[in-house]
Amino acid sequence: MLADQDRIFTNLYGFHDWGLKGALKRGVWDNTKALLSRDPDGIIDEMKASGLRGRGGAGFPTGLKWSFMPKDPDADGRPNYLIVNADEGEPGTCKDREIIRHDPHRLIEGSLLAAYAMHARTAYIYIRGEFIQERLHLEAAIEEAYEAGLIGRNACGSGWDFDCYVHHGAGAYICGEETALIESLEGKKGMPRLKPPFPANCGLYGCPSTVNNVESIAVTGEILRRGAGWFAGLGRSNNTGTKIFAISGHVNAPCVVEEEMGIDLRELIETHCGGVRGGWDNLLAVIPGGSSVPCVPADQCSPLKMDFDGLLEVKSGLGTAAVIVMDKSTDIVRVIARLSAFYEHESCGQCTPCREGTGWMNRVMQRMVTGQAHKSEIDMLLDVTKHVEGHTICALGDAAAWPIQGLVRHFRHVIEERIDEYTSNPASKPVAAE
Ligand code: SF4
Repeated sequence: MLADQDRIFTNLYGFHDWGLKGALKRGVWDNTKALLSRDPDGIIDEMKASGLRGRGGAGFPTGLKWSFMPKDPDADGRPNYLIVNADEGEPGTCKDREIIRHDPHRLIEGSLLAAYAMHARTAYIYIRGEFIQERLHLEAAIEEAYEAGLIGRNACGSGWDFDCYVHHGAGAYICGEETALIESLEGKKGMPRLKPPFPANCGLYGCPSTVNNVESIAVTGEILRRGAGWFAGLGRSNNTGTKIFAISGHVNAPCVVEEEMGIDLRELIETHCGGVRGGWDNLLAVIPGGSSVPCVPADQCSPLKMDFDGLLEVKSGLGTAAVIVMDKSTDIVRVIARLSAFYEHESCGQCTPCREGTGWMNRVMQRMVTGQAHKSEIDMLLDVTKHVEGHTICALGDAAAWPIQGLVRHFRHVIEERIDEYTSNPASKPVAAE
């Protein structure tokens, strides 16, 4: 369990002042000037040594990502940009909003440091359209930081000029995909771009850009202050540091909590959420990393290490670490069908496997809910998910396919029973998911 002195987000619940005075008391902006006197490549090396992996879902090593940016942006006249992805829209996920509304200075300081390491003088924070209060806090905090000379010209007295802008999205889930986010930031429709070229070569306005998740950027200041060794000493190799988990669903006290990477799922739920509703034995399954990862059935949930490798071992993923807990009262087929409807709705429609596949999968899933399907369609559905997965421009195709794959892998018998039930009594009135 994470010791209190290792906690980074000490105002996660908003009990204290989120403004500059409160942030200073919590150690944010503590000697940032000294950090900015370090060699940018040295900062990147420190981030690499910390083992930090991106907290937005994909888990790509943050330091390595930063190292892809050109070292001399003036060489071809194109500026480098840092873009912070605050478009938190994954169902079940509500961790970045807690950072933004309760500790915005941690994000702003992290943005300055990350931008400096990548030779970027401008950062854009792209915030989800529905996050109104969060945006107001963030804008007020940026204003405070400008007034205090922490950002802007000669940020923190370091000689480095840095500007930070907030851009408010319009509520489309797909704008959380980094290239769709860049398109949206440029004022276009939020549609993912084909890669390559990758943003580090050709991103915002055709310039080198790096897109990072809020949590990844917000931990930067503490990693640099306390040292890579401290961060790497938490969790286990390849899965280091602290992580914010958001636990929702059938637990007695849903919550957002910062914990050590690799904490056991049962410990996480019983320590922070008052346990599963009706007791641990009443657990049916969890979706451990936001709605797009496959569910994990109860018999694989204990022990279960909540980190990248631990969840890979049970064919799921850490994703955004948003844990959706489902007890035995859950209609798991209906849950996954609801997610299928979501992904169909959020598909931008520009590539065929996703545009057609998400609609097809959703329609079949809705019939699976009521049992109005043939058993042979289960394998056909699985086959279609394999044709969508990995065959699309962005990861939304995978996100639509994986929950269904998890359902069929672990709960095929429930789908079959539903079909048998309907076949034996077609007059029964099934409840549709949508
Ligand atoms: Fe758009 Fe879906 Fe293709 Fe992504 S996978 S680009 S959301 S159609």
